[in-house]
Amino acid sequence: MQRYEKVEKIGEGTYGTVYKAKDHESGEIVALKVVRLDEDDEGVPSAALREICLLKELKHKNIVCLLDVLHRNLRLTMVFEYIDQDLKKYFDSSGGKISPKTVQSFYYQLLKGLGFCHSLNVFHRDLKPQNILISKRGDLKLADFGLARAFGIPVRCFSTEVVTLWYRPPDVLMGAQVYTTTIDMWSSGCIFAELSNGGRPLLPGSDVDEQLKRIFKLVGTPNEGVWPNITKLPEYKEFPPYPATPLELVVPAMNALGINLLEQHLVCYPNGRISAEDAMRHEYFADVDPALKL
Ligand code: AMP
Repeated sequence: MQRYEKVEKIGEGTYGTVYKAKDHESGEIVALKVVRLDEDDEGVPSAALREICLLKELKHKNIVCLLDVLHRNLRLTMVFEYIDQDLKKYFDSSGGKISPKTVQSFYYQLLKGLGFCHSLNVFHRDLKPQNILISKRGDLKLADFGLARAFGIPVRCFSTEVVTLWYRPPDVLMGAQVYTTTIDMWSSGCIFAELSNGGRPLLPGSDVDEQLKRIFKLVGTPNEGVWPNITKLPEYKEFPPYPATPLELVVPAMNALGINLLEQHLVCYPNGRISAEDAMRHEYFADVDPALKL
């Protein structure tokens, strides 16, 4: 008998199809992420397989647990703990309003998961509400950590849907080929703002140029003065010198401390962005539920 029995298809992710399944050995419900590889390829690249097996060691209460990795022929199946819904679906069901306390709790948990992975030099590179999962108890867990490094960052989803640019930082949009924690700090800032706005995305651009224009109209167009060597980026583009928009106008439900924290994420110069560790220590979290700090 097969150990995992598919119950239903949940969705199409960036790397493959996700199914709800039953684990006949433990009796638990799990999520299977099935990555199908090209017929022309030689199966799963060994480097990718090595990376993924390392992810089994990434154990933290704010990271979706990778329970098992199965590899047969042209198919790679990752078995994850099953979590009820993702943040996108949570937004859809919350009617556009999330209480400031919930925003604070979710964002603290997001930073905790992020800080843990960053301390082990594992980056996400593609953080977005679809790969942030929320359990019935209000626990937040990050999914797809480390997969960008294993498989490369795709331009299209498995289902040929274009990968969203909304959470990409300006350095990546202008062709910087780097793997650093600063990428995730930009994306998480966008998600912090989206949480506060009840699920309205902060920077919903439709293509690279429009995405950059939206960013610069929000935080001001960067130049060599604030971002050394910006003009040397592979896909550097010149934009008019837009002034920054006051963040109070963009996240009206956020308090002054939250705005101060958000400002430290939305910094065009990558090295100027706050780290997850420092963000968790910010005064905005002074009154966060002490149970979350454990
Ligand atoms: P992803 O590849 O992570 O973007 O997954 C695609 C969709 O599958 C997501 O939007 C989630 O709703 C769902 N999903 C991913 N991982 C899990 C999981 N561990 N438990 C339940 N649903 C999941």
